[in-house]
Amino acid sequence: MIEAVKDIEDLIKNQINLPSPPAIAVQILNIVQQPEASIQDLARIISADPALTAKMLRIANSGLYSPSSQVTSVERAITVLGTNVIKNIALSFVIANDLKSSSRANFDYDYFWRRSVTCGVAAELLTAALQEKNDDIFVTALLHDIGVLTMYLSKGDEYAELLKQKGTSKASLTSLEEKRYGFDHQQLGATLVESWGLPVQIYEPMRYHHNSAKAKAEFKRTTEILWLADLLSAIYSESNSAEKVRLLQDEMEEHFNLPAEQVRELIDEVATKSIEILDMFELDAGDMKPYSQMLQEANDELGRLNLSYEQLVMELKEAKEKAELLANELSEANSRLKELVNRDGLTGLYNHRFFQETLSKEIARAIRYKSNLSLVLLDIDFFKKVNDNYGHPAGDLVLKNIASAVATAVRPSDVVARYGGEEFAVILPETNMAGMKVFSERIRRCAEGVVTLVEGQQIQVTISIGGTTFTHEHPEISKERLIDTADRGLYLSKKNGRNQVTILDALESSG
Ligand code: GH3
Ligand code: MG
Ligand code: MG
Repeated sequence: MIEAVKDIEDLIKNQINLPSPPAIAVQILNIVQQPEASIQDLARIISADPALTAKMLRIANSGLYSPSSQVTSVERAITVLGTNVIKNIALSFVIANDLKSSSRANFDYDYFWRRSVTCGVAAELLTAALQEKNDDIFVTALLHDIGVLTMYLSKGDEYAELLKQKGTSKASLTSLEEKRYGFDHQQLGATLVESWGLPVQIYEPMRYHHNSAKAKAEFKRTTEILWLADLLSAIYSESNSAEKVRLLQDEMEEHFNLPAEQVRELIDEVATKSIEILDMFELDAGDMKPYSQMLQEANDELGRLNLSYEQLVMELKEAKEKAELLANELSEANSRLKELVNRDGLTGLYNHRFFQETLSKEIARAIRYKSNLSLVLLDIDFFKKVNDNYGHPAGDLVLKNIASAVATAVRPSDVVARYGGEEFAVILPETNMAGMKVFSERIRRCAEGVVTLVEGQQIQVTISIGGTTFTHEHPEISKERLIDTADRGLYLSKKNGRNQVTILDALESSG
């Protein structure tokens, strides 16, 4: 195993031009390795760089370390947080700052460092949640993927191509790297960090962060933390967040016995703290926000969508109902209008025009269905006298009463019309001569019984009737001839003394 690592290191060193560590990092590492070095020595190196000092103080006072009192100097920071923590924070800033500037077109530096810092925060918080102490965890997690960056710096577009390939294939990045170069970014990162003189507890967990089972026993725990911190940081930088949250909860439960609820809190806290720390690294946090907030916003959006969908459906339904109501009203108004057009204003009976149309249709129908129909014309006797004796309005009243008496005496299929003045016509579909005779007698008697009261006086009139029948057997009989025959019957009734019925055969009657 040791041999294998050695071989890999040789392979790496043959192929990769390992970048040298930033000068200030070397100084920091040197000073902390000297047994006699004091807090002041470390503080002096850091304080020589005002930008680094400012960042150190900010991070020392941040939520990540939450000191009990305000830290206002680097020395105080070292006293409160310990030499190791301060050294690691300083190294983080220095290394990240150094490698951040080497920007190239085909590599998303912002993504890389955002993810690295988030992983550092996640590892720090996870360690605290497990009530463990590891001063090196932040820098270990921050640098855990430094092999990826180094690989790109050395191989350029060729490696960028491989990264792209990883995005589309199911193969892991490490297996693709292994296939192409004979080693992967874990081994490269560990080799690089070791070459920079960083301690073993930093580079050993890095070497197996995708496969903690392979890690040496003493580094297994840190390797697992690193791996899960990486998974946690992926929630905030990649798609399928929900899937990753579930996976993380399962793994956290299995490896660290952390309940799902606590994992959820941890996930949220990583975002809150990362936003703070990313700012110190002068990195854009993008639209990072706690996972629960992301979920809430997604739910709210869903709620809004549902609501507006329901509203839309309701509005459509209402609009449809309104349209239907309007259509009904319109068609009712239309048929009322049509009715009005067909009606006589005084009596409410059908008018002459409608009578003519209907008679034509009924004749055609009788021919088609091989049936017959009857036509009756009736005229009020001596109506002129009514007007003369009682006045025109009284005459109107009599007309109305006779009309309604006739209208109520007919079958629903019969059509009663005002033919003219005090003359009425009744069309009786499917009625032969015998039926018509009975009907005519019935309405003649009915009219006799109609009493109109005008100013205490009773007005009664009689009617004269003429009728005829149309049969399909003689389709040659025209409508005009039919009317004329009935009219002649009516004339005969008048001539023969009024208040009687005369029925003529249209075939026999000579026009
Ligand atoms: P006959 O028995 O021969 O039918 O005698 P008549 O008086 O009924 O016949 P005539 O045709 O001479 O007179 C009909 C009268 O009916 C004349 C007219 O003023 C009257 N009349 C026609 N239409 C109306 C109406 O709408 N209202 C009223 N009050 N009278 C009407
Ligand atoms: Mg008359
Ligand atoms: Mg008349």
